[in-house]
Amino acid sequence: MSIKMNLKNILRTPLRWVLVIVSFWGLPATGFAQNLEVLSGVLDPEDASFETKRLGKGVYALVNQVTFSDNSGFVVGEKGVLVIDSHIHGIVADKIIAAVREVTDKPILYLVNTSHNGDHWFGNYAFPAETKIIAHQATAHLMATRFERLRENIKVPFVKDPSLLDQVEARLPDVILDGAQMDIDLGGIQVQIYHFGYGNSPGDLVVYAPSAHVAWTGNFMLGEGIVPLLIGQARIPRYLDAVARFSETLEAKTIVPGHGGLTSEREAVPLYMGYLSELLQVAAHAVETGLTEEEVTGAFSEAFRTKYTDGPYRDFLTVFHFINLRNVYQLLHQEQDAS
Ligand SMILES: [Zn+2]
Repeated sequence: MSIKMNLKNILRTPLRWVLVIVSFWGLPATGFAQNLEVLSGVLDPEDASFETKRLGKGVYALVNQVTFSDNSGFVVGEKGVLVIDSHIHGIVADKIIAAVREVTDKPILYLVNTSHNGDHWFGNYAFPAETKIIAHQATAHLMATRFERLRENIKVPFVKDPSLLDQVEARLPDVILDGAQMDIDLGGIQVQIYHFGYGNSPGDLVVYAPSAHVAWTGNFMLGEGIVPLLIGQARIPRYLDAVARFSETLEAKTIVPGHGGLTSEREAVPLYMGYLSELLQVAAHAVETGLTEEEVTGAFSEAFRTKYTDGPYRDFLTVFHFINLRNVYQLLHQEQDAS
């Protein structure tokens, strides 16, 4: 039975939903992984499998066949290859490398990690020693200082056998991006790497292949109608600025998101701008009028569920709306208390 089936069955079970919702209460913010029980097993390394999609000359998406498990991709030039994200474990990184080897035997010169979340870089150690790993400075800092915590947070419930993650070795980046852009010439094809600001995480990177108008967006922008999951300390005004810069700078006809199906700038940007703005508005109004956290999350997660995304992810996203409302409300409350 596939994970896809498991997820569908989980989502169809009302009792399971009650448990998921109940499990939110009383947990510290750092225990967010437990809140996401609905995503049980989705990032399992053994289950991950990729479909290779050619999106232009030398430009490939690796679309995960397990619902919501990380996508990847690569760009091939005359000199060598650049890969985007290494997934959660060497087992999956080996599958990514094998997919590259189906297309070319040129060396893998670069690997870009789009964020510090373990599912985007824990597979780094399986790449060849000569591969240069690129990350944003803020991401590199979190990788170096929080590896153990990131690993604990992602074990449960995302991986079926959590002990597998004990095998992960933290391989840190070699090339640190501390500005807004880095260009890489792979020989006959250019790749641009952008940091548009603090979006979903402090060091979000977007990789862009201008010749094919393809952008890999990691967790900065998720796929196929999926709204962001604000799990860290994302501040909405900054996130909105970053999405605006993304939209002004690129012309991404295809987005290969960190999770979910392929989308486009035309689809994703209005969804993100609209959702983030409304989330901020609702939470700010709740804080101003003295609503409790329970009141705002209770009243609005259903409203958000109805309004945003009526595709296959609709029920699944209830958890996202709930966590987002709670986190934004808490942040605004803290700011109000501090001022
Ligand atoms: Zn992710």
